[in-house]
Amino acid sequence: MSSHDVLSESDADPAANLARIRGEIDSALKEAGRPAGSVAITAVSKFHDAARIRPALEAGHRVFGENRVQEAMAKWPDLKADYPDVELRLIGPLQTNKVKEAVATFDVIESLDRPKLARALAAEMEKQGRRPRLYIQVNTGEEPQKAGLAPADVPAFFTQCRDEFGLEIKGLMCIPPLEDDPAPHFALLAKMAKNLGLTGLSMGMSGDYLIAAQLGATHVRIGTAIFGARPVH
Ligand SMILES: *Cc1c(COP(=O)(O)O)cnc(C)c1O
Repeated sequence: MSSHDVLSESDADPAANLARIRGEIDSALKEAGRPAGSVAITAVSKFHDAARIRPALEAGHRVFGENRVQEAMAKWPDLKADYPDVELRLIGPLQTNKVKEAVATFDVIESLDRPKLARALAAEMEKQGRRPRLYIQVNTGEEPQKAGLAPADVPAFFTQCRDEFGLEIKGLMCIPPLEDDPAPHFALLAKMAKNLGLTGLSMGMSGDYLIAAQLGATHVRIGTAIFGARPVH
């Protein structure tokens, strides 16, 4: 856990935090020999209301993550009306009965992890003529309670998405086990993406985004370190 995790909501100035984090990431990238700006920050705004999100938008930030379809549908249509160039990313589990809303609401879906969902997404994308970019979620720690495919199952699923469902996969996403050193998980995800010829890598959260940046992330998903502690729901 980093010291960021103890920031209270009132302490956190989202715009200032984003600027600071951007600077830290660019230093980490330089150290790792990666180009500045090669990691996008997904500002995870789940549980925070529109009033809390607006300062980040006003400061020019445009990439946001939400983990629930329902909550995103309640908050984002109004915000997107004011900021049409926002990129909204679904980072939480997706049930097939929410696929219609998810395809309509999100620009990127990071939690694709099973054939039934792939089939439903393909049908709905065809119907709406809207094609959110898709990431496969990988359960790198093979935790039974966690969403995502076991690493060994990813290549066959990737091929099935392409050949059976006509889905183009853009990248991989993982959430390492809380108690583990995240570095081996990030390294594994990066290697898997490389083997599949995928360029998108969503990994790293408030406690470990610099490690993820150094290990090849293209998107880090940061909530607490930007917005402060989440209000309890
Ligand atoms: C909530 C969440 C995050 C952000 O977590 P923080 O520790 O607050 O940065 C990142 N990824 C996923 C999938 C999440 O659900």
